[in-house]
Amino acid sequence: MNPLLNVDAALENILADIKTLEAETVSLPDSYNRVLAEDIISPIDLPPFANSAMDGYAIRHEDSAGASQSKPATLAVTMDIMAGSAPDKALEASSAARIMTGAPIPQGATAIIPVEDTDDDWGKGEDSPLRGEVRLFRRLRCGENIRLAGENIKAGETIMTAGTVIGPAEIGMIAGIGHPRVAVIRQPKVAILSSGDELVDIYDELTPGKIRDTNGYTLAGLIRGAGGVPIRLPIAKDRLDSVRALYRRALEINPDLLISTAGVSVGAADLVRLVMEELGEIDFWRINMRPGKPLAYGTIQGVPFFGLPGNPVSTMVTFEVLVRPALAKIAGREAQRRSIMATIADDIRSDGRRTYARVTLKRDGERLIARSTGIQSSGALMSMVLADGLAIVPEDRTFVPAGAELEVIPLRPISQ
Ligand code: AMP
Ligand code: MG
Repeated sequence: MNPLLNVDAALENILADIKTLEAETVSLPDSYNRVLAEDIISPIDLPPFANSAMDGYAIRHEDSAGASQSKPATLAVTMDIMAGSAPDKALEASSAARIMTGAPIPQGATAIIPVEDTDDDWGKGEDSPLRGEVRLFRRLRCGENIRLAGENIKAGETIMTAGTVIGPAEIGMIAGIGHPRVAVIRQPKVAILSSGDELVDIYDELTPGKIRDTNGYTLAGLIRGAGGVPIRLPIAKDRLDSVRALYRRALEINPDLLISTAGVSVGAADLVRLVMEELGEIDFWRINMRPGKPLAYGTIQGVPFFGLPGNPVSTMVTFEVLVRPALAKIAGREAQRRSIMATIADDIRSDGRRTYARVTLKRDGERLIARSTGIQSSGALMSMVLADGLAIVPEDRTFVPAGAELEVIPLRPISQ
């Protein structure tokens, strides 16, 4: 029997093997939540031209010198500039151009006075024809309320680098510089394999002795959340030909990663293990963690392969700890996990393996309180439904007293 393998050593071993997928070009709307595979350089200034930050009047700021509430300056209105138009003449001294937010600044203008600071009443929501003249009730600084060309970004500037995940702001910026297509890392196709005579799918009848396949569904969700495309295959029976056919079928879809659950524990119907060994190069690991001790890792016909334990909680926890970082690397995403510190509300007992305890997380002033979800059996998926995070009891600690601080892997945003 192999000795127990340390979790960190196992992960290091896995990540050393894993390669990031190649790039593909997609249309901008399809790039949302994908990983950039190129640096994005702006071909233009943004904004492309100086424009008004306010609805108001463009003036030469000197013409407002001395203007106040009691002694307004009066200017002749000689132009009317709408957003989307291009003024065809310069602004003369002692005159003003009515201007809308986002409209180009006419040559000669050096400041915008907001309509609220004039005697024009269109600022009060009234329809207002162009006036012959306008009164200004305050003086303006040079450049006031003008957005300069290129003040956001300059032509030639790198605005995003490869590896950036394209969120709403990123996709908006890329649209702003007019890139209709972008290079992104291809999304990993992940085949999900389940086997067991006891398993039936959601549409099948639950006859005595049967349970429903849950791992196929939790894994699909986890994979989707990690930026992959899950492909769930039909459930194989505990027969050599059925398991072999399942694996062959999985390879036919050209996956970037294979994940199976069950069949890796000692004494499990070892057909799965037999087929893994027959088709691939697999190491069977006993990892120093709880839940999730038995685990297989290797390659099947060049495709990275994880054989996760079958118990639903073990499947999810081993995914969080070992598969998620691997999948992140395949997908070109940040593999480093952010953990947080929390105060343990109740004593935790462990067996000396690194233990991932399912906990709820609640804020209490400055502190974050982690409380066990109760039942911690690796078969009880409800413990994951309730869990906000996984509290890590380090190896070799068999007792953590209430009040101690532990590192926690958050599973979702923490409620107040
Ligand atoms: P095994 O490794 O086949 O002995 O499975 C270990 C435990 O996980 C058993 O209780 C199985 O019934 C359960 N199990 C295996 N595969 C699944 C699955 N896809 N969904 C839910 N439970 C499963
Ligand atoms: Mg089984």
